[in-house]
Amino acid sequence: MKILIADDSRTNVALLSNALHKLGHEVVAASSGREAVALFQLQRPDLLILDVMMENMDGFECARQIRALDSDDWIPIIFLSASVDDASIAKGIDAGGDDYLAKPFSEITLEAKIKAMQRISDMRQKLFETTQKLYLLSSTDALTDVYNRAQFDRSVKEIVATADRYHNQLALLFIDLDNFKNVNDTFGHHIGDLLLTEVAARLKRCVRSVDFVARLGGDEFAVVLSEIKNIEEAAATAKNILAALDADYNLDNHYIRNGASIGIACYPAMAGSVEDLILNADIAMYHAKASGRNNFQYYTQELNQRYRQQINLEHSLKFAIERHEMFLTYQPIFELQSRNLAGVEVLINWDHPKFGVVSPSIFIPIAENTSLINEIGSWVLETACTELSQFPIRTFKKFRFAINISPRQILQEDFYQHIIEILTAKALPPNFLELELTETSVMTYTNPNFQDVLRKLHKAGVSISIDDFGTGYSSLIRLKHLPINALKIEKLFVQDAATNSNGSIIVNCLIALGKNLGMTVIAEGIETQEQLDFLIAKGCPQGQGYYLSKPLTADKLAVFFKNMQVKQP
Ligand code: C2E
Ligand code: CA
Repeated sequence: MKILIADDSRTNVALLSNALHKLGHEVVAASSGREAVALFQLQRPDLLILDVMMENMDGFECARQIRALDSDDWIPIIFLSASVDDASIAKGIDAGGDDYLAKPFSEITLEAKIKAMQRISDMRQKLFETTQKLYLLSSTDALTDVYNRAQFDRSVKEIVATADRYHNQLALLFIDLDNFKNVNDTFGHHIGDLLLTEVAARLKRCVRSVDFVARLGGDEFAVVLSEIKNIEEAAATAKNILAALDADYNLDNHYIRNGASIGIACYPAMAGSVEDLILNADIAMYHAKASGRNNFQYYTQELNQRYRQQINLEHSLKFAIERHEMFLTYQPIFELQSRNLAGVEVLINWDHPKFGVVSPSIFIPIAENTSLINEIGSWVLETACTELSQFPIRTFKKFRFAINISPRQILQEDFYQHIIEILTAKALPPNFLELELTETSVMTYTNPNFQDVLRKLHKAGVSISIDDFGTGYSSLIRLKHLPINALKIEKLFVQDAATNSNGSIIVNCLIALGKNLGMTVIAEGIETQEQLDFLIAKGCPQGQGYYLSKPLTADKLAVFFKNMQVKQP
């Protein structure tokens, strides 16, 4: 042990040093209280032995000053005094001392007291280490070993406070993996966990040691760049992160690619408080996701406004059904050559008392992010079956009503049962129903459950069609192996086809592809006679669009059926 002793009597110093050397300790000697305080800071001893009676500064005052200096470490102090009475013991303890040694001391007592102090000191060290470990455990994420949400909350506050003090800039990056749910659904949780661990490791490699990486939960990570020169520096790091995360992952011999979306908010340029900084990075992240994924976005005022609208919409959407603000329209689908009715597509509409008519392209994605899509989906199915069963649709040899389905609905536990029950209750044969799934959803949801439900429905007689065909990336092999009855050509291609040679080539190919795969092809968004002529010339069997008929409310559909009966008795 390194022991600092203080005594203004040279003889006493020599005596004590001698004894301590014999016991194998290193000694640093001071001849006054003041010198002891100075030496303490320089030498960082393991134990202090202070004579109580010293000129100018006595041992108690010396202890008090040392304790005032030393807030974190606890170094034991033993007082050396000729008078060890109750009053001076109490005074010594008040001054921050731990034990007393009576003068003249016996070497055995000295050794025993030092050993006792050493033991206490060791125990304190262990306690300190355990506390550190516990702190680390409570501040890190057990799976990925980066910081956890609780530590993130604490650290962001500290980093912002430091930035205020030194007038620094900092950046907060929110990072969300683009297809994590898919990876989990397709490969299982074990591979999902491996992916998260590897993402955390890659993130750490992209930032400096002074920066901060945390997992906020699920597949959301945060990076705090604690000191940046300008906001472009945040973009440079975001680009590095995107490149690092986009590289192939080999997870237990599964080769996976998984991009990410990043939202950036800088402090103080884009937020005035810690709360705003976190909210704004989140808003920017949602925007990055909505802008096509695998990209980064800065927070802006305009995004903030859009976000507030979105929150309002989200809130109103919860009550839209019970407040009877939703209604359905039906867009007729025709055999193009004969103009016979082939069926209708069911479309949901939301007439909000304050916002007016809100397009499903806006509110369906919001509903898809929450379980509201299941409630809305059920309502559409039940309402369509109820309304349509009142029309003479059963008199048609072939009639189908097509309902747009979000992939999340299919993964509901009782989706199949629910459909069969409604059809049975309304006495509608299953082959009247067609489910429209977008190309992207069919291609990204590759897990067996999803496909099983589609196969079961198909087996029961329900048709499946692929919506917006041509906008996603289809694997022909998957297309061939899925139970698909129809392809719907996205309206942008149809509208390009009559005027633009590339458009016409695309539509031609899509029609040929559908036919070769044995599927019906339905052109969407026919708006002119020219487009209709083109499609008929290319042999497209079916179509829909404003030129043929706009989507009709249930009342107008009733009139439509009446007129048809008059024309086709
Ligand atoms: P979609 O499946 O591609 O539906 C066709 C959209 O094109 C409809 O817009 C329809 O009104 C519009 N449309 C029809 N003919 C023409 C035309 O000649 N020209 C043009 N420019 N547009 C035409 P809407 O009703 O706004 O629906 C938008 C999207 O919302 C739908 O796109 C569909 O993906 C989704 N959606 C609609 N109803 C539902 C629903 O009940 N459930 C789910 N999950 N999604 C729905
Ligand atoms: Ca559709």
